[in-house]
Order: sequence, then structure tokens, then C-alpha cells
Amino acid sequence: MSKFEVPALPYSFDALEPHIDARTMEIHHGKHHGGYTNNLNAAIEGTDLEGTSIESILSNISNHSAVVRNNGGGFFNHSLFWTVLGANKGGEPTGDLAEVINSTFGSFSEFQSQFAKAAATRFGSGWAWLVLVDGKLVVSSTPNQDNPMMDVVEVKGTPILGLDVWEHAYYLNYQNRRPDYISAFWNVVNWDEVSRRFSEAK
Ligand code: MN
Repeated sequence: MSKFEVPALPYSFDALEPHIDARTMEIHHGKHHGGYTNNLNAAIEGTDLEGTSIESILSNISNHSAVVRNNGGGFFNHSLFWTVLGANKGGEPTGDLAEVINSTFGSFSEFQSQFAKAAATRFGSGWAWLVLVDGKLVVSSTPNQDNPMMDVVEVKGTPILGLDVWEHAYYLNYQNRRPDYISAFWNVVNWDEVSRRFSEAK
């Protein structure tokens, strides 16, 4: 039976420097994402979930174990995260996504400020999200490895941008300075990919 696999990074470990350092990327991708993926595969081996899509598992997560919730979320969240980052990215979105962000939040900088606040105020480990909910863009955050695809979270929808605010995502370089990591994140957002996800989710 096919197993979940960690997707290759679409860039080198050092591609996001100086904003996100190579050592953090190497450990985060290989050990953390790799760990969630192995644990998810082990948890579903020999069960009805074997061969089920990750989207289907997450959307019914209330029916599954905490191990599947934590590691299924970890597998999905990091698979999304690597793609919404990139070298020589940042800046602002364009086109349809830019228009909808402006009409929803008032301006791009107001959106950034709401997203950064969600990321900074998530107590302990978790994620900040830009989510499409019934055709509307919403900023939210989730604890642990929960995400907007899960039927148990407050804001349910399709995530189009996510930011990992677990300490493992920034501690080597930023230590306790999560706000500095959040500021640096804007320099590596791949808005082309976020726009693609937005169009697909609509
Ligand atoms: Mn992580």
C-alpha cells in the first residue's frame, strides 16, 4: 500500500537565508516533517485509513486518534509550508488575490498586521493561516498541528498560506524572538503559489 512521503524541498536548504537559516530548514524538513510522516504511516498501517487521501483524513479528524490528528496535521501543514516559501520572493501579491486582500482587510499592510498578530499571539506551538471560508478570506490560527481542513477547528476552510510558529521553526536563529521570525517570513513568501492555491480553492 502506498505511504505518505515527505515531498522534496523545491529549493536548497540555504535558499531562504538570511531569513530562515539552512540548518533550521534541514532539521525542520528532514527530522520534524520526516518524523510526522513516519508516525502517520505507522499509525494508519493496517487500518481503514491506509490509502486514504490526507484531505479526507483531516476533514474527518474528529473520528480519528490524537496520533493521527497530530501527525496527519504535521504531514499536511509542512507539505503546504515549503511550497508557500521561496528564494527571492516576498513583496506583495498581485492580480485577483491582491484585490481580494485589499477589499477584505482594507490594505495589504493591514492584512500583514492581522496575520502577524495571529502568529505572535498563538500561545505555545501552532500555526497562523490565511483561509478561504465560503468564498471569504479569513486570518486564523490553530494550536499544535491542527489546521483549517480539520472538522474540529474554529475556522474551517481551505488554507492558502500558513506560518509555522513552533519554536523548532525559528529557535536556532531567533531564539525567543518570534516577532523577528514573523517579520522575516514576509521576505520569503511565494505569492505566486499562494495565488495559485487561492484560485484553486475558489
Ligand atoms: Mn514545523
